[in-house]
Amino acid sequence: MIYAELILWVGAFILGTVLGSFSGALIHRLHFDKPGFWTGRSECPECKTTLKWWNLIPLFSYALQHGKCAYCHKKIPFTYFLLELIFGLVFLLFVQKFSSTTEVIPLLIAAWALLVLFFYDYLYLEVDLRIVIPAIVLAFSWVFFREQSPPFYLIAALIGGGFYGIQFAISRGKWVGAGDIYFGILLGLLLGWPLLLLCLFMAYIVGVLVAIYLMLFKNYGRKSALPMGAFLMPAGLVCLYNGDWWLNLYLTWSGLGQFYSF
Ligand SMILES: [Zn+2]
Repeated sequence: MIYAELILWVGAFILGTVLGSFSGALIHRLHFDKPGFWTGRSECPECKTTLKWWNLIPLFSYALQHGKCAYCHKKIPFTYFLLELIFGLVFLLFVQKFSSTTEVIPLLIAAWALLVLFFYDYLYLEVDLRIVIPAIVLAFSWVFFREQSPPFYLIAALIGGGFYGIQFAISRGKWVGAGDIYFGILLGLLLGWPLLLLCLFMAYIVGVLVAIYLMLFKNYGRKSALPMGAFLMPAGLVCLYNGDWWLNLYLTWSGLGQFYSF
């Protein structure tokens, strides 16, 4: 039934935007160490007014209030609108592609964690251990129920963590942050080998392109911090979604496909 599928997809999109809206507030509360970061009521960070349910409808409230707080009329960063939209689209895509619930539920939890870590790093250049450590624990327990055998993922986690750990040690934290080590472990557990490698590769390409763009058009100095680790999250999402497809494309295009097959 096409209608049943349509309802499922719309539902996934709405669930994604609601979680996106909640996550935006969660990131804000975690960063500013507000009490009750998990259960607290949402309030305007400027005027502290507790928001009513109609101020919290994902996408619509932002659009209807012209991107401003309904009470003090301070501008709400466009990032929050974008965050809700991206959450909605990611949830829609995953539910549309993966039909079995045993597959899609862990994938949605993984996507949620990656998106929260991405926006946190993007907004505040920080990795919050209260998010990344539970995410690693969950990803580790998922390893025992996956398609491939556990070592496949555990080795990738070791390589991912080691890759950033070595850079962190050599540069004494100048090239990469300690948070990137957690990212490497998490993505290794989620993706396994060789998709982890593809993810690192994609993250570097996107990172370099963004850096070039910022230097050319935004007066971005060489000393400005760019959260390179943050690009691992979108790359990780793409690899979770259809990493094998990209890997095959790369192998065919580079001619390496005749030597390796996955
Ligand atoms: Zn306000």
